Amino acid sequence: APSPDDARRILDEIEDQFRLPKEDLMRITSQFLEDFALGLSEYNHPMAMIPTFVTGVPDGSETGTFLALDLGGTNLRVCEVELLGNHEFVLRQQKYKVSDALKTGEATTLFDYLADSVDAFLTEFASAVPSSPSFEQPNPFGSPTLSEEPAVPLGLTFSFPVEQTALDQGKILTWTKGFAAKNAVGNDVVKLLQDAFDRKHLHVKCVALVNDTVGALLSRAYTGGSCVLGAIFGTGTNGAYVERVENIKKLGDSPARQRGGHMIVNAEWGAFNNTRTVLPTTPYDNKVDRQSINPRLQGFEKFISGMYLGEILRNMLISLVDAAPKPLLFNGRSSGPLNTHYGLDTAVMSEIEDAWETGRVPVVPVLDSDAAKSNTNGIAAEELASVPDWQSAFFTEVDKLSPDDKARLERVQGIIVQRLALDPADVSLHDAAVVRWATSLVANRAARLSGCAVAAVLVQTERAKLGGGFATDEEKICVGVDGSLIQHYPNFNARLRESLRELVGDEVEAKVEIGLAKDGSGVGAALCALQAIKQG
Ligand code: ADP
Repeated sequence: APSPDDARRILDEIEDQFRLPKEDLMRITSQFLEDFALGLSEYNHPMAMIPTFVTGVPDGSETGTFLALDLGGTNLRVCEVELLGNHEFVLRQQKYKVSDALKTGEATTLFDYLADSVDAFLTEFASAVPSSPSFEQPNPFGSPTLSEEPAVPLGLTFSFPVEQTALDQGKILTWTKGFAAKNAVGNDVVKLLQDAFDRKHLHVKCVALVNDTVGALLSRAYTGGSCVLGAIFGTGTNGAYVERVENIKKLGDSPARQRGGHMIVNAEWGAFNNTRTVLPTTPYDNKVDRQSINPRLQGFEKFISGMYLGEILRNMLISLVDAAPKPLLFNGRSSGPLNTHYGLDTAVMSEIEDAWETGRVPVVPVLDSDAAKSNTNGIAAEELASVPDWQSAFFTEVDKLSPDDKARLERVQGIIVQRLALDPADVSLHDAAVVRWATSLVANRAARLSGCAVAAVLVQTERAKLGGGFATDEEKICVGVDGSLIQHYPNFNARLRESLRELVGDEVEAKVEIGLAKDGSGVGAALCALQAIKQG
């Protein structure tokens, strides 16, 4: 085994690279605000600050039945959403796989697949719930459509950067999150979809284009009564917030700008740090970026989101397996998953932290979807588990560990053996302690950086001052969130909040209510389709 000194030096160095003290958080948030300002005044800035042409936020009284199609995450989703008008909704959905071949092939093939999925949904899954109270009416979605019947309105949730020019119009700027379909960038995404519907003679009309962040904001506002920021922490990360139109300088003298008021802006904050190096980058991050399909793009996203966290950890673990002068993990042995690009899913990190935390702190009540539904939302401030505390386990003889600590490390060990397909003989309890430590370094950094993005929006909208000391008179500041990371990753929300507290002070942080935007993409798209129909 390596001497404790060698090990300590190497691990200390790594830990140092992942540290994010308050000064760094402040500097990063300031840069965020500068980029917000630049993106609001000019087109083609990496922080795209995309005007969405959504000028109102729902209050929960909206009604109607709509189709929604959601592309941009791990799955393609087709939903039928019935808004009941009392902050509640009924949603039926079906998920469809999007293969890598579809993601990177011809755009028309991808959009034909979307149309086929909608067709399949209408045939197999759409409910018999008519949009009007009369149950005598034929199913507006499932029955063969008569030509004089109005087309079924559909809202498209498209979670990629789009330069939107109207509620139902927007050019694809670039792909992210593993998509790279050819002949799509530069084209109107609504037209690509509508053409596919028309090719297949589907009686469906795409009336609204909405980003998943905007969907999160709208759906949270619908269920909770208000919302200032919709944020995603899933495969990718991004946020949309309510901005004063006056501040969206790049709209110039356009009618939208002249009307004034408020408009939801999709920040595309995943692209933060594309051009500047304000984030503390490690060799593991550089490797993730280099080997990604979009090097030098989506800089912030690569530090934060589910698609990349497991990959950062995998790179770190491999470097520990290969450490000189002696291996620091797994007797110097690797495995299939460890050697495979994206072979370590972020969900495994969740499992590792869960196994470690269980029985140690009160089990974290993560985001509660039922709470979001019943309006008692808000995520209880979770007790924050102390982050890197590996030393105790690493430098303590295993036989000196308390039985509880030993049991917890054994659970971690079991997950490592299983998920990384390692020989149990190569995974010691020390190894388990190191892997748990490495896992929490990566996740802790992600959560703290996520806090910078939220803080930047609060400062931008004059609800907070960077560094604290200023509180808005609003009683609560509602934030709608969605994504597996914030929903399921132990302590992610608590760590985010801790960072937020350091950035905007206790007083403002305490007013922030982070709640799940349940089915944000579906309900948000429905609310947007409704808005589009109203606007005529
Ligand atoms: P999307 O953002 O694609 O709509 P999700 O919010 O489910 O979908 O995010 C999927 C991403 O979250 C994947 O990158 C996956 O690795 C990660 N993930 C899935 N389950 C978990 C989990 N339990 N904890 C943390 N990350 C997870």
